[in-house]
Amino acid sequence: MTTRKDCLDRDAQDALAPLREHFDLPAGVIYLDGNSLGARPKAALTRASDVIAREWGKDLITSWNTAGWFELPKRLGDRLAPLIGAAAGEVVVTDTTSLNLFKVLAAALHMQASDPARSERRVIVTERSNFPTDIYMAQGLAGWLQRGYSVRLVDTVDELPQAIDADTAVVMLTHVNYRTGYQHDMASTSALAHARGALIVWDLAHSAGAVPVALERDGADFAVGCTYKYLNGGPGAPAFAWVPRKHQARFQQPLSGWWGHAAPFAMAPDFAPTEGIGRALCGTQPIVSLAMVECGLDVFAQTTMDAVRAKSLALTDLFIALVEERCAGHGLGLVTPREHARRGSQVSFTHAHGYAVMAALIARGVIGDYREPAIMRFGFTPLYTSFADVWDAVEILKQILDEKAYDVHAERGAVT
Ligand SMILES: *Cc1c(COP(=O)(O)O)cnc(C)c1O
Repeated sequence: MTTRKDCLDRDAQDALAPLREHFDLPAGVIYLDGNSLGARPKAALTRASDVIAREWGKDLITSWNTAGWFELPKRLGDRLAPLIGAAAGEVVVTDTTSLNLFKVLAAALHMQASDPARSERRVIVTERSNFPTDIYMAQGLAGWLQRGYSVRLVDTVDELPQAIDADTAVVMLTHVNYRTGYQHDMASTSALAHARGALIVWDLAHSAGAVPVALERDGADFAVGCTYKYLNGGPGAPAFAWVPRKHQARFQQPLSGWWGHAAPFAMAPDFAPTEGIGRALCGTQPIVSLAMVECGLDVFAQTTMDAVRAKSLALTDLFIALVEERCAGHGLGLVTPREHARRGSQVSFTHAHGYAVMAALIARGVIGDYREPAIMRFGFTPLYTSFADVWDAVEILKQILDEKAYDVHAERGAVT
């Protein structure tokens, strides 16, 4: 049986342990919600102060050139690219995940519609269990186009091969499911989509900074994702979009704002897209928020995704084992796959009073979150989570369950 001492020993040997120093976490908190909002890099405070006081305050509008504001979406994209198996010049950090998804989805549909052999395809295939905004954006786009486009929802992964047929224009999947932590096999699923004549869009919201991703190698067509989750970019930090070089010339997205123009300051009346990844941009970016993304990426630059993944699997294996051992008989059901290849960096358990138990955990300093139906979600961020944290979190969970110390009528906030 694993003891707390064993966990402390593992921490002492953990090469990633020193990275925790780069984050400011309140004392007495075990933060297991980096999958929803990453913790704050210490450097973000000084960076924000510099952007606001000096770049904005003193240098004013000249900062678009002198502080590199104009180039920031692309420069951050280049820094993020290695984490997702993409090349420089293929990623921009901009807008929200929902918006970027709209852009790449629309561009993918347009590519298919422009190909005589595929122009009749009108279906976007995705999962019913996908994060709702992804489905909503696809439904919104399909409905707005009014040309017979529709969204086909599959209930299980096993149904995908049947659902991707000669009508399918685009397959749109989230690589790691937000609720269950299930991880798709990107290579085989991308190959399946291509074999059926479809393009494939991957949402990396729960993958970027959490699991190694190899977009290029695994044959993806487009990808989007968040920077405020595992990448620790800050609340509402701009998201990213990946458009590989092979598709850039044909990439036409409908949000054709001036930042995607070949010569934005020519102020010409007609839109002409810029070459390269810049055409995924739309308008002026929230520079203060965008600048924070770099602080999170700076921490990743000190390690590798393979090292992050190894620790992530060790943390999630330990959490599963300890919960099953110490909280047995309390009606917890493991939702997340045990198989490493199918698991992201979170562990989800169902409990009949999941919301109330999570509220009790948060009150005692163990911060995870709750997702309908009945799912308690625990995200493990190897950059700042220790093995002792895992032990302590399970100990507190055990106490709450043993004592039934949760209020089944706990009131819910607007955000769970
Ligand atoms: C978190 C998440 C989003 C969030 O989208 P926003 O536009 O940033 O609100 C979208 N898709 C998935 C799969 C997510 O996990």
